[in-house]
Amino acid sequence: MNKGRLIIFSAPSGCGKGTMLKEILKCENYRCSISATTRQPREKEKNGVNYYFITREEFEQKINENAFLEYAQYCDNYYGTLISEVDDYLEKGIDVILEIEVQGALKVMAKRPDAVSVFIAPPSIKELRRRLKKRGTETDDVIEKRIAEATGEIAQRKKYDYVIVNDVLENAVSDFFTVMSAEKLKSEFSDDIIE
Ligand code: 5GP
Repeated sequence: MNKGRLIIFSAPSGCGKGTMLKEILKCENYRCSISATTRQPREKEKNGVNYYFITREEFEQKINENAFLEYAQYCDNYYGTLISEVDDYLEKGIDVILEIEVQGALKVMAKRPDAVSVFIAPPSIKELRRRLKKRGTETDDVIEKRIAEATGEIAQRKKYDYVIVNDVLENAVSDFFTVMSAEKLKSEFSDDIIE
């Protein structure tokens, strides 16, 4: 059986990544890794579903135990991918999506060169600000911090294998599946030749 693919999926806050993932995850062979974070849960977010919400002390203990494939600090909080959320699923042939920011993504690209990396970009920063304000889950201060992070992240998009602009949701989701089909052809081709 072929192993699953590790997919790095990065998008600045407010790029519609959540909505895109909801569509993508309707397809059964994909699983989104649940990250650990020290950030406070937002309304409607659940522990063990959206994130594992843990304290700074717990997070630092996991760093010492080498429990993370990668971790990063983002807007004053820790976020990290637990190895236990990734490798068992890949072994079972399930494709695992890591929804992570750029610093973490670069670490995974270095550690796992087979990973497929996809950057989701907004049509413009102006549109990104409009979407963040409409979402209304963050204060104006935090929104400006997130816009500043987003600008820095967009500047690094060329380090990814693919960039998809999320202007119209259906088109962006369809672009994602096109990328995955192309990647699948690559790996199936090499297996057939050997056997
Ligand atoms: P949010 O607070 O909006 O849920 O996430 C903030 C940022 O942290 C997003 O860009 C998200 O992709 C990123 N993030 C979530 N989980 C992880 C993780 O495990 N590792 C890293 N490096 N970033 C993460």
